[in-house]
Order: sequence, then C-alpha cells, then structure tokens
Amino acid sequence: MRGLVWFRSDLRVHDNPALYEASKNCPEGLIAVYCLTPQTWAQHHEAACKIEFILRNLSKLSEALAQYNIPLQIIKLDAYADCPKALLDFANQYQLNTLYFNKQYEFNEQKRDASVSKLFKSHQLEVHSFDEQCILAPGRALNQSGNAFKVFGAFKRKWWVTLTEADTKLYPLPKKQSKMLIASTKVPSSLEGFNSTIDPKLWPAGESFAHKRLKQFCELALFEYDVKRDFPAIEGSSRLSPYLAQGVISAKQCLNAVMNVLDAERPQEILKEKGPETWVNELIWRDFYKHILHGYPRVSKNLPFKKETQKIAWQNDKALFKAWCDGATGYPIVDAAMRQLKTTGWMHNRLRMIVAMFLTKTLLINWQWGEQYFMEHLIDGDFSANNGGWQWSASTGTDSVPYFRIFNPMTQAKKFDPDGSFIKAFCSNYDIKPIVDYKKNRELAIKMFKDL
Ligand SMILES: Cc1cc2nc3c(=O)[nH]c(=O)nc-3n(C[C@H](O)[C@H](O)[C@H](O)COP(=O)(O)OP(=O)(O)OC[C@H]3O[C@@H](n4cnc5c(N)ncnc54)[C@H](O)[C@@H]3O)c2cc1C
Repeated sequence: MRGLVWFRSDLRVHDNPALYEASKNCPEGLIAVYCLTPQTWAQHHEAACKIEFILRNLSKLSEALAQYNIPLQIIKLDAYADCPKALLDFANQYQLNTLYFNKQYEFNEQKRDASVSKLFKSHQLEVHSFDEQCILAPGRALNQSGNAFKVFGAFKRKWWVTLTEADTKLYPLPKKQSKMLIASTKVPSSLEGFNSTIDPKLWPAGESFAHKRLKQFCELALFEYDVKRDFPAIEGSSRLSPYLAQGVISAKQCLNAVMNVLDAERPQEILKEKGPETWVNELIWRDFYKHILHGYPRVSKNLPFKKETQKIAWQNDKALFKAWCDGATGYPIVDAAMRQLKTTGWMHNRLRMIVAMFLTKTLLINWQWGEQYFMEHLIDGDFSANNGGWQWSASTGTDSVPYFRIFNPMTQAKKFDPDGSFIKAFCSNYDIKPIVDYKKNRELAIKMFKDL
C-alpha cells in the first residue's frame, strides 16, 4: 500500500489518528498534502492572520514530517470544489492507493469530503477518515431521543459519565517510512489576498511552542483559572485557541496534560479540583458546539438556532457598526476589546461576550454582522465556537443567555477591569462620547425580543 494523508485542521504529528494509521498501513510509502483554497477561504471570511498562521504551522509540520520520511506537498487550488480532482490526479501520479484524513464537521467541509471520498471510491481507491477534533466525537454523547443535546448542562453531565480512560489515550507518533517518495514543497510564506498586519511573534508556530504554552499554563494559571479567567488584564487563560483551532495541539492532549498535573488515573478525578475542572469545562463547551454543528447542520447555513429569532427587527445602522468595528463607540471596555482584536488577532473571552452583547442588544445590529467581522479578524476563528458564542450572546442560539440578561458595559468594566489597566493598554488618548444611550437601547432590545 502507498498512501496519501490529507492535512486540514490537524497540523501536528503527535496524537494524529489519520497520520498514524496511514504510516502504519502504508509501508511502501506515504505522502502528505495540504490544499490551499484561497477562493473558498475568502468566501468563509477567513482572517489574513489566520491564513498566515496556517502557513507558518505548515512549515513547522513539514519539518516534523520529514523526520519520518513523509514529504509534505502543498497543492495550490482555488476552491473546495477543486479538491476531488486535484487529489485524485495527485494520487494517480504517485500511485497512491489509499487516502487518510481526519474529519471536519462544518457543512461545506463535509460536502467537500463526501465528494472526494466518492470520487476515490469510484476509482477503486480506499478512503479512511477519523474523528480527532473533539475529546468525545459527535455521536458519543446523545440525548434520550438519540439526537445531539441542545442544552449545555445536560450535555456536560452526559459527557462526564461517557468519558472513559480509553478516550483519554493519545495516538502514537507516526511510523518512520523507509524513504521519502518525493521531496517536500516549500511552504509559501504568504498568500495573495491574505496580508496580515498582526505581529507573528505574538503567535509562534509549531507543536513544540503549543506544548510549551500548555505546560506554562498548567504550571502558572491552571489552579487559579476559575478565579482569574475573567480578567482581561491578567494572563489567566491559556491562549491556546489558535493552536486548538488548527489542530496544532489536540483537545485530548490538553485533557491529558491536566490529568498528568493532577496525577489522575481516571479523567473524572479532575472534578475534584476547581481550577482544572473549570478549564476542562471550556474544552467541553468546545466539544458541545462541534456536536451542535454536526447534529444541527442548519447553524452552518446562515440560520439562527431558534428559528423564530430570524424575525427580529434588527436596526442594522451601518455607521454604528463601523464605530463598533473601529473601537469608537465611546464605551471604553468595548472599544479596548475591539482594538485588542484588531491589533493582536485575539480577544479575551469575557470581552467577546461583552462586545457581542453590545453589538446586538445596545447597537441593535444583527449578530451575523458581528460573527462575520470576528471571522475576518480572529486568528483562532473557528466556525462552531464563533457561531455558538455569537448566538449565545444574541439569545438566538441553543441554550443561550436569556434575552433580558444584558451585560452593562460599565458594570462589566468595573467588575473585570477594576483598575482600568486593560482599557488603558488599548485606549490611550481616549476621548469619545457614547454613540448611543445604553439604558434607552436596552429597553428597545428587550422590546424587540418581546415583540417576536
Ligand atoms: C462571541 C464569541 C465568539 C467566539 N469565537 C471563537 C472562535 O472563533 N474561536 C474559538 O476558538 N473560540 C471562540 N470563542 C470562545 C472563547 O472566547 C475562546 O475560545 C477563548 O477566549 C480563547 O482563549 P483561550 O485559548 O485563552 O481559552 P481558555 O479559557 O484557556 O480555554 C481553553 C480552550 O477551550 C476552548 N474554549 C474556551 N471557551 C470556549 C467557548 N465559550 N466555546 C467554545 N470553545 C471554548 C478554546 O479552544 C480554548 O482555547 C468565542 C466566544 C464568544 C463569546
């Protein structure tokens, strides 16, 4: 057997099921590929800093794969629709008779993979796909009717009772191939149409760095995560989201690290420690939104989870939207947060909730405008977490915040940035008057939902 392993959002050699199985089952040689699809990425509003981050990680991945005699070839295409033919041609050119990849759960990605698989099979080539994005794969934690859970609390309880020690086991490193079948292609350092302005030093690439960050987090912040995670001026969270989104590190590796720190044999032992438990809870939210995406594909189709909320009469004032994007609303915590996004490609979780609620329930703008803007700027842009976070904040989603519980940006700032140091860091020389009246618009937002 000669094999083809297709990398997508799993840019690592450790704990990678598709890579490991391919290396084990293809003793006559293995080639890895990654397809650049800028046209589709533009349609998906992918951020330039995210694409640049992917390229830097591909370069590291290529070095790592070379140690196992596995070349990485970069195939430059336009769109997802080009993948089936390009991959088949590639497989034929190098006489590769079996394809391996790890699954993605977004609608367009699933459609693309189904087309690739169909074409390969129609040419008598084998296709093997694996679940690796979640700790518990979609389908592993279902409600009594056999569907994906809609409520996080119930999902979480099921998640913890379903999770076994076997689920925490990591895949071994790939088997070294006897020789490189072909040379690797040089990974381009940039891609036309995606010119990032974010300093790459903020987000170093590669598995070793991701593991260093995980180790530091476990040593310095894990045990205080429950008390410090909400303060944007403090490094209280892991900042691993870009690495998790591109699979430079796996969620299972994160879970394993927590178990190692606690010297736990069973994952449920994590529940005894507040900090670690709270952090793993975030990994469960990550699983939850991926299960939602898999179980309820309508969220991938530009539709709110709660269908009736499609009728909300958002005001969609373009000037207010621009002020929000520019960090010029006159609400310091909102503006500092939006400036953090623009200058670093990342935003603290508490601030994502504050600015999302502000856009929807104070500026009365459709959450989908914000969802798109986030994708255009986030280095950790991830469809399921972003869509889930926006719909939670806008009260249009599954298990979202009640529509009348609206974060007051002044109170939030007082509570979570008490000495104003976060605001100062991003809003020096700040002199803007509030562009809307918070209290008045709060009433309007509540009315909009009541009118439904
Ligand atoms: C409006 C909105 C949009 C968001 N968009 C994204 C996005 O595009 N990509 C993204 O990865 N996260 C998104 N989140 C979730 C969360 O804000 C980020 O994952 C988190 O801030 C990343 O920082 P961290 O790595 O330090 O997280 P930590 O607190 O260290 O958490 C560890 C990991 O758990 C996952 N995680 C944490 N919180 C959530 C959550 N609420 N939902 C799903 N996964 C979570 C992330 O992978 C994160 O890296 C969004 C949240 C909101 C409210």
